[in-house]
Amino acid sequence: MERWMTDLCRAMPKVELHLHLDGALLPKTALDLSAARQWRDFEEPLSYRQMYGRLVVPHPLASQEELLSYFEIPGLLLQTEKALRRVTRELIWEKAADHVCYCEIRWAPQLHTAEGLSTRQVVETVLKESAAASRQAGVTVRLIAVGIRTHSLEQNLKMLEEIAPFAGKGLAGVDFAGLEAKAPDALEQEAFFLRARELGFAITLHGGELPGSAPRLAEQIRQLRPARVAHGPGSADDPALCALLREQNVMLDLCPTSNLQAGLYPDYESYPLRKLVEAGVPVSISTDDSVLSGLTLSDEYVNLLQAGQVDFPTLWRLNLDALGHAFLEPEEKTRLLSRLNIWASNLPDLQGNPAELEL
Ligand SMILES: [Zn+2]
Repeated sequence: MERWMTDLCRAMPKVELHLHLDGALLPKTALDLSAARQWRDFEEPLSYRQMYGRLVVPHPLASQEELLSYFEIPGLLLQTEKALRRVTRELIWEKAADHVCYCEIRWAPQLHTAEGLSTRQVVETVLKESAAASRQAGVTVRLIAVGIRTHSLEQNLKMLEEIAPFAGKGLAGVDFAGLEAKAPDALEQEAFFLRARELGFAITLHGGELPGSAPRLAEQIRQLRPARVAHGPGSADDPALCALLREQNVMLDLCPTSNLQAGLYPDYESYPLRKLVEAGVPVSISTDDSVLSGLTLSDEYVNLLQAGQVDFPTLWRLNLDALGHAFLEPEEKTRLLSRLNIWASNLPDLQGNPAELEL
């Protein structure tokens, strides 16, 4: 890819909807946090290279299960307010450096309570730091709390009640994620989605990550009515599911590199982005885990351009669509849209009238 194109991708004000807080723990931060804990989580202190190897996924791996094992160290270390504040701040500044103007950060607050914090304290800490870093770095941020697929319905409902006071106060949505092979059926926890909607949260769910999961995803969309789905590239092989996504205007928040790392596709060329775009399915592009997956959103744009999956104007359109589907108040969307339109003006690569969004 020529340098001017990578520069252009980097300069574009970008929208990123699918981003995990615990996949953003930087190796140096992990070293600092481990040292402060006297390395009690390890047999001996690790070097930067060793920590990097434990946090950044080489690809491909054999499975989603193997990919999820890279969350082990973040799970051990992100158990204090200080650690949560730091990872939140660093992720937002990393995004600012890559010219991401809006992002949604998700995490499961109940997984950060092993050393005494309550779910409520975890949410308060991340919300507060996110608001401060967002102001300083000039990135608009909304947060999403994740219910865990392998937790019981009671546990997930309890989490919802604890986060309820923060609905609409920076905490915009609820997701449902975890190891799909062990507990594939979100339908069994329908009450979780009903309650989340009742509390005013927007709904997304991780789904369609495994081969052959398309029929189940269709059923989940019909019954649970998420506004968006995290991943779901396998939908491309199922015309009826594509039609459903199109008709219900459900966006797939795709993360190609993460799926390659999980061994779902051999290379960027075989990733079904182009197929989904041609089928008219709403899609957005994200990194999933900036540190685990070892890339920025502009890197991912370049990967997709290089593989011939999209051209630059299509990337721009997907970026605008992502803003349209964001869990963000309409007036904020309008404000960001005018910022995007200003950037796109005088750029012959993106000819046409200023974009408008259906809000
Ligand atoms: Zn994800």
